[in-house]
Amino acid sequence: MSDEQKVVEKLIEYGSLDNEDQKVLGIARLAADQGYDKLSSLQQKVLKPFLSKGCDGVENPGGHHNDCSVVLEGLPLAEALDQQSYYGALLCRDCVDETEQYAREWAKIQAE
Ligand SMILES: [Zn+2]
Repeated sequence: MSDEQKVVEKLIEYGSLDNEDQKVLGIARLAADQGYDKLSSLQQKVLKPFLSKGCDGVENPGGHHNDCSVVLEGLPLAEALDQQSYYGALLCRDCVDETEQYAREWAKIQAE
C-alpha cells in the first residue's frame, strides 16, 4: 500500500473529507479501495491538496505558540491523523514530544 493510500484511508476514517465536495469523497474512496496509483492524474490532482497538511503546533503552558512550520505528508501525516483526536490537534513528531513533555511537567507540578 502506498503512503498516499494510507493517508486517504485515514482522511476518510476520521471524517476529514466529510465537508468536502462529493466528488472529492468519491475519488478518495476509489483511492482507498484500489490504490492511489490507480487514479487518473486528474483525480490525483483533486486529492493532492488533502495529502499534505501543516502541523498545528503547540502552545506552551505560558500560552506561547511555537508556530511550527512542519508540513506533514505521507506516513507522518497518516500517523498524525491517527493521533489527532488524542491530542486535539494535528501534530508533527516534535510537537507530540513537546506536548508529552508539558503533560509530564504538569503532572509533576500537580503531584507536588
Ligand atoms: Zn509541529
